[in-house]
Amino acid sequence: MFFGRLKIWLCLLAFSAIAFADDGFDLPEMPAPAPKPAEAPKDAPAPSQTPVQAPVTSAAPATAPDTDDEADAPLNFAPIEATTVSESGNVTSGNAPAGNIAASAIHAKKIPAYLNRPVRVGIFVDVKELLVKNGGSEYHLTASSGKVKVAKGKSRPETVSAKVFNQEGRCTSISTDKKSLAYNCYPGSIKVSAKGNSLTAVNTVDVEQYLRGVIPYEIGKLDSSRFSALEAQAVAARTYAYKHFGSREAAGFDIYADTKDQVYKGLTSATALTDKAVRNTAGIVMMYNGEFIIAYYHSTCGGETETLATWGREDLPYLQSKPDLRPDGTPWCSESSYSQWERKFSEKETVALFKQNAKEVKSKITNFSEVRSISILDTLPSGRILTLEIDTDKGVFQVMGDKVRWLFKKNGSILPSSFFRIGYDEGGWVIRGKGFGHGVGMCQMGVRARAAAGQDFATILTHYYPGITLEKFER
Ligand SMILES: [Zn+2]
Repeated sequence: MFFGRLKIWLCLLAFSAIAFADDGFDLPEMPAPAPKPAEAPKDAPAPSQTPVQAPVTSAAPATAPDTDDEADAPLNFAPIEATTVSESGNVTSGNAPAGNIAASAIHAKKIPAYLNRPVRVGIFVDVKELLVKNGGSEYHLTASSGKVKVAKGKSRPETVSAKVFNQEGRCTSISTDKKSLAYNCYPGSIKVSAKGNSLTAVNTVDVEQYLRGVIPYEIGKLDSSRFSALEAQAVAARTYAYKHFGSREAAGFDIYADTKDQVYKGLTSATALTDKAVRNTAGIVMMYNGEFIIAYYHSTCGGETETLATWGREDLPYLQSKPDLRPDGTPWCSESSYSQWERKFSEKETVALFKQNAKEVKSKITNFSEVRSISILDTLPSGRILTLEIDTDKGVFQVMGDKVRWLFKKNGSILPSSFFRIGYDEGGWVIRGKGFGHGVGMCQMGVRARAAAGQDFATILTHYYPGITLEKFER
C-alpha cells in the first residue's frame, strides 16, 4: 500500500526555479503592508499579543490567523488586503538615493494635504463592553440597538449615540478587562460608537504618537546596540500607516490595531529608545515611483527573501527575492530560533491534518484515508515551495505557494515557512525548513543583526526594498 510513497527526500537542494502562475491560488487579496515578525527577540520583551515572543509583524498579510507553537513565536501571516494608495502623484521620487544617508540628509517636502491629519485606529472592534478611565472618572460602556450605554461610576447609565473621551495632553485608559485598564494609556481622543449590540472604539491620534505605540510590538524593545533596527521599523510602520489612510473607511477608521494591520496598544510599552527611533525618523517614509511602498515584513527569511509570487501575485519591483547573507555567507537572520527547524507528522496525523485543513488550502479531495506521496513539483527562485502535490487513495491535489503552511496546520499553528523540503522516514513525514514568515520584504531578524553590525536604517531598508527612495514629510 505504500507503493509510490517517496521515501527519500524529495527535491533536495537546488531546484530549477520554475515560476509560473497558477490559478486557483487564492490569497488574500493584497497583502497588507508591513508584516509582523515573529521571532522572539531574546532581548526584547514581548511584542504584541503574546508576550514574550518575537516581533509581530504586521505588514503581513492577514487572513488566516495562525499561531506558531505556543512556546515560540506567534506567527501569523495572512495576507491582508492591500490598499492602494492613491494619488500621491505630486510626490516626486528620485531624490536622494537611499543608502548610507543620515536621516537629516533625506529630502524633505511638505506633507500632502490629504495625509496631514491624525490617523484613526480601530483599537476595539465589535466588542460587547468597554471599561474606560478618563479624567479621574471610570466608565462602563455597553451597546444596545445601535446606541451606547454609558455608566459613569455607579450612576445610572445614560444612552447616547456615541461617546467621546478626550483629555488634552494626557491619555485615556480603555480596555475590555480591568487588569489592562490599570496601565494602558492611549494618547489623542477616543470615540466609542455602537452597531447593534456591539461597540467599536476609534482612537484618533497623531501619526508620530501612534508609532510610539507600534514599534515596541512590531520589532521588540531592542537595546541601543541595535538602534537602527528600531529606526528601520519606525520608517516601515510609518509608511504602512500612511499607505492605509482611508483604506478601511467602511469600518469607520484607517487602520486596525492588531495583526490585521500593525499591532498598537497605546503608549504602555514605549521606551526612551523606541520613542527616540520614532523621533529620529520623524516623517520619513519609503516611496517608489511617487507612491508609498507596501512595506511587507516578516520575522526570519532563512537566507533569501521572497517575491509576491508566493501569494500568486504579480511582482513589485521593490519586493524582489534577495539573498540576506553576511560576507561570510551565513544568513543575517541566523540568530533566529527559526533559522532552521524540523517538524514530523505520523501517517495517521498527516491524513487527519490534510482533511481538517482541506478547506483552507482549497482542496476538494477530502474523503481519502491514505496519503501516498507528497512531492514538491516546483519551487520559487528563493527555494520556497511553489507547488506541493499530494497523492492520496482518492486522487491528487496541489497546494500553492505560502498556502502550503496551512496544509499542515496543527493546533492552530501553521508551518513556520514554505521554505522546506519533505521526506518520509520511520512511519511519518519529516519536514526540514528555514525561516519564519512569508519571506516577503524586510527580514526583521536580519534587520536586528545588521543594526548590531553598524548598518544605518537607510542602508538596511534599501537592501530589503531595492529601488525605493526615502522621503521626509514635514508639516
Ligand atoms: Zn533574513
